[in-house]
Amino acid sequence: MLCKFLIFLPALFFLFVSCGTTPTAETEPQSGKSSTSIAKKFSYPVGEKEVVTEARDKQDGWYNAQDFGENNHLGEDWNANSGGNSDCGEPVYAVANGEITYAEDAGADWGNVIIITHRLPNGKRVQTLYGHLEKILKTSGEVKRREKVGTVGNADGKYLCHLHFELRDENCLLWDRVFIGYSPVRTGWLDGSDFIDKYR
Ligand SMILES: [Zn+2]
Repeated sequence: MLCKFLIFLPALFFLFVSCGTTPTAETEPQSGKSSTSIAKKFSYPVGEKEVVTEARDKQDGWYNAQDFGENNHLGEDWNANSGGNSDCGEPVYAVANGEITYAEDAGADWGNVIIITHRLPNGKRVQTLYGHLEKILKTSGEVKRREKVGTVGNADGKYLCHLHFELRDENCLLWDRVFIGYSPVRTGWLDGSDFIDKYR
């Protein structure tokens, strides 16, 4: 019995050591990301000015056609006041400093999507998602607030052109991934405009 235990002991030690080293290896890329500039200030993803209102007024040329939470919407749908497809190709801006951590064609309902990960001054992270893009202008690396990252599109003709914009916190189970855009459970998703207004 003792003999068996002595054989078992080195195996246990090996397991312990390998378990102990794995998390270290996994955390290395995280520490590498700490060089990403901090998102101190946020601004809106569309419009010539840094701030737009959600109303369809004459102030800024843009409005939010479907608010966060409306019909279980997980984002906001930004459209030009001029309506229809008049906003196809309009610039889409990074709302804050961050790093592009996803940029690809996400399929039929989405079209081109960019996700930017932002590090806040308090050390926490949020992500912003820009959906239905006509063009992706940058696929990786650091971005600055108001940097043009894409253009407004229609998900290959599925919708009238608009920007589907989401803002997520670290509770989001679909971190760095697209979901379906609607859910009655919105844990991990925040009201994008409210967040931008708070930190702009
Ligand atoms: Zn939407």
